[in-house]
Amino acid sequence: MAKTIGVTLSHRVSVGLVLDHKLVGPLHSFPTLDVDDDSSLVELHTEGLVRTICEQVRLVVGDHDDISAVGVALPGIVKHGVVEDSPNLPQLKGARIAELLGAELRNHGLQTFVHVLNDADGVAAGLAATIGKLDSFIRVWTLGIGIGYGRYPFGEGVWEGGHTIVTLDDKENYCGCGGRGHIEGIMGHRAMRLRFLDMEPEEVFAIARKGGSGKDVARCRDFVRLWHKALAAGTATQIHMGGPGRFLITGFNAKYVDLAMLKDYIHQMVKMSPLQSYALEIVDDKPETRIIGSAVAAEQAAC
Ligand SMILES: [Zn+2]
Repeated sequence: MAKTIGVTLSHRVSVGLVLDHKLVGPLHSFPTLDVDDDSSLVELHTEGLVRTICEQVRLVVGDHDDISAVGVALPGIVKHGVVEDSPNLPQLKGARIAELLGAELRNHGLQTFVHVLNDADGVAAGLAATIGKLDSFIRVWTLGIGIGYGRYPFGEGVWEGGHTIVTLDDKENYCGCGGRGHIEGIMGHRAMRLRFLDMEPEEVFAIARKGGSGKDVARCRDFVRLWHKALAAGTATQIHMGGPGRFLITGFNAKYVDLAMLKDYIHQMVKMSPLQSYALEIVDDKPETRIIGSAVAAEQAAC
């Protein structure tokens, strides 16, 4: 039975021990879950981050000496253990994370294989392991600060689906990557705050839901439609490129998804009958799922 460590890196480092695709014992996090500070990791340079991850991994490993792999999921483009770009953790751009972390762990007596992956791919693997089957094909949208697109099983490629072009409007330039017309520029939490400088995303959706008349209501309602159209367009593109199948939607902003509205828009966008056997589902975003996904990915990469 493989003993692996799953790590997620976002605005905090979270680490857990995974045994046979199940989390064993508590998650360790830095900053701890009761601290609501989303800037401390952004301020750490690469060496500091690697040291922080190593410390948390050592806490979780404890007396276990037969750890077969450590999987680290982070937002960004990752190739062969190197972070090629990460708009949300910019200090990591170009960092050879797998090599650095492997060396740091070795210095602390833990000789193990380190695998680094995109966080949305980690979510897809975690969902495949926990609610699906590890032999199924899963695509997942993660709706958070940015928009992630993950797939399981992993396939060679970049898969930055959150930057799919869904509009040719020149004014649509709120994406964190700086590109024009991207899904993330419409749906991402950061992008929504930039668009509505006078209200929080939560208020925008609440006003649209409440209805009535007035300029704000019309503006919010139009935006909520645009938001759903963007997700529908991105999903329709994936269906046209990769075929129909199961799409899962998660992340802290998945609560705003109106499945009926989304399905209606996708129905208008996907008309070829062999492509219409797709399924959409909203699933809870649990930290455990992400940890398990990182560990499963590392275990498979180690084989
Ligand atoms: Zn973008």
